[in-house]
Amino acid sequence: MTPTPAPLDAAPLTQLKGAGPDMAQRLARLGLHTLQDLLFHLPLRYQDRTRIAPIGSLRPGNEISIRGEVQLTDIKLGRRRMLLSRIADGSGAITLRFFYFSAAQRAGLARGSWVQCFGEVRSGPSGLEMVHPEYRLIDPAADGPQQETLTPVYPSTEGLRQQALRKLINQLLDDPALLADCLPELLPAELLVQRQMPTLHEAILYVHRPPADASLHELDEGIHPAQQRLAFEELLAHQLSLRQLRERQDRHAAPPLPATRTLQRPFLGNLGFQLTGAQQRVLEEISHDLSRAQPMQRLLQGDVGCGKTVVAALAALQAMEADFQVAIMAPTELLAEQHRRNFAQWLEPLAMAPHWLSGKSKGKVREQTLAAIGDGSARLTVGTQALFQEGVEFHNLGLVIIDEQHRFGVHQRLALREKGARDGRHPHQLIMTATPIPRTLAQTAYADLDISVIDELPPGRSPVDTVVIADDRRDAVVTRVHAACREGRQAYWVCTLIEESETLQCETAQDTAETLQAALPDLRIGLVHGRLKATEKEAVMDHFKAGDIDLLVATTVIEVGVDVPNASLMIIENAERLGLSQLHQLRGRVGRGSVKSSCVLLYKPPLSKTARQRLATLRETNDGFEVARKDLELRGPGELLGTRQTGLLELRIADLQRDQALIPIISQCAGHLLREHPDQVAPLIRRWLGNGLRYGSV
Ligand code: ADP
Ligand code: MG
Repeated sequence: MTPTPAPLDAAPLTQLKGAGPDMAQRLARLGLHTLQDLLFHLPLRYQDRTRIAPIGSLRPGNEISIRGEVQLTDIKLGRRRMLLSRIADGSGAITLRFFYFSAAQRAGLARGSWVQCFGEVRSGPSGLEMVHPEYRLIDPAADGPQQETLTPVYPSTEGLRQQALRKLINQLLDDPALLADCLPELLPAELLVQRQMPTLHEAILYVHRPPADASLHELDEGIHPAQQRLAFEELLAHQLSLRQLRERQDRHAAPPLPATRTLQRPFLGNLGFQLTGAQQRVLEEISHDLSRAQPMQRLLQGDVGCGKTVVAALAALQAMEADFQVAIMAPTELLAEQHRRNFAQWLEPLAMAPHWLSGKSKGKVREQTLAAIGDGSARLTVGTQALFQEGVEFHNLGLVIIDEQHRFGVHQRLALREKGARDGRHPHQLIMTATPIPRTLAQTAYADLDISVIDELPPGRSPVDTVVIADDRRDAVVTRVHAACREGRQAYWVCTLIEESETLQCETAQDTAETLQAALPDLRIGLVHGRLKATEKEAVMDHFKAGDIDLLVATTVIEVGVDVPNASLMIIENAERLGLSQLHQLRGRVGRGSVKSSCVLLYKPPLSKTARQRLATLRETNDGFEVARKDLELRGPGELLGTRQTGLLELRIADLQRDQALIPIISQCAGHLLREHPDQVAPLIRRWLGNGLRYGSV
């Protein structure tokens, strides 16, 4: 029986010399399992060992090779014993400093010996020095061999030396046949020509072994054409994978939900305001999608307070007009609860009421809800993830609305598409997010979704004035809260802690509420945090909304969705510890009425550089897209999308920030490939995303 050869991209590393089981284990810690993995394990940076620099030309920060004659070697005693060796080459002199050394080393560095060193130059107490350079004794007459290429420095792990990694990778690079097998070219020739890109083979060789005259600057920035070629292919693979997913999805049937307006019209009549132009435009896009026999897959983006919920309600009504069920899911109880209340108010004049299902729904109530969902009498159900758990069977679900989707992982989003499918028909899906995602990022991360943007706030809103204040001026802030509440305004005092411990957060909020109450005995102070029962939370929020509470002390549970237009002042504690988007979300709780609103960001000095930038950004702008752009710059896309843990866009080489300019081109190329070279699509996806089809497995 002949064993089936492993596919080339699965050829195990153990076939390399020096890659025994121990080594394989260490490599696995870096995520390296196959020959192909190793070839795509790219250097973090490079060292230039191709030339010897004159000592006189060195600058602090240079990482470089030098040669020189030892002038003096001495042990310096002090707090720490160390060996100092002074070497010179005629152009200048430099000190080598060793904290660990042997007697033999000391003897070798005797006056008159010649050494060649590689290390980082820094300025020391008596001029330039290298600390623990790599060095060897040399014969000054011989012109010892230099490296011909720049030396790669790879991401590594404990117990895995650079030297060992280089040896393994060199084995592959030195074997043209093996290399060709591992790196089949998957991009069409016309594309390479048109974009003037090197082949995959050339690109991989270049990044592992850049020639001596390569631009270190380009390489370090990741903008060399060889690196860009790899980034291009990686982004293309992700794009293709999402497009494929979308195509599969489009083949599903969905119930057409034509707009009859029998519910929408009275709803709009009761609303008390006109939709903004942006809301109207977006509603038309959604309405059109819903009337089709394919499932809508639409992302609705808009800054906090732009009025997404109203649009979602109109979409829900369109589904209900066609006699289908609607499910509305939010990431937290508090937000789901807020939706339930809104919908209850909106549906009441239409003689309907929303049903409610959360993880805390238990016993008889839960059974009744499940029965109503199952027999179709629950036309609209609001809830948390519990809506899509085991045992929940909808009668005829037509539309799923997911709020604040960035709180859910991409896997959940994909899984939801399948849930609620019945008799081969899939419900329409509307996903809402208040984390505005810059266009290029959205095109990549959400290539499987259509995107609608509400880019206009309802009239009469005035931007929130944001000030940044050190917390040693807390008393002044308390006085300000007092004055505002005495004028009939309402305020939030948000307690934040970076620790994940919810208990601690709640305790802090409780302490803060007590301290504030003691300082401001004439104010009515309320407290809301994650540890309260839903009914307790609801009662507090009701009192606040009704104006029976002046100051609401809260944890970040109020971050999303909470809507009390009369609240016009917000204090956020420890603002330096929160991310930009989170602060922007919190701040979005004020500025909802026509009164001028303000937000005080309290921080504990000293501020780190990025914290300072974050707070400055908030002080300078109220525009969610601007905030998101800055956030992307400061934190990177993984955090912005909230998907760091969920595996979406785990890019190995490309960097969405740096490579933004590639993205529109990649969208085009993906289309071209799908039409003209469909055979290349699967191998490309497999090369970069593996067999797991990360986006496709639902
Ligand atoms: P989002 O969910 O986008 O943050 P909401 O839908 O909660 O925003 O709307 C915020 C507030 O603005 C709500 O009080 C809502 O009733 C109100 N609102 C929504 N659309 C309009 C509009 N076109 N004109 C006036 N007020 C509006
Ligand atoms: Mg909302």
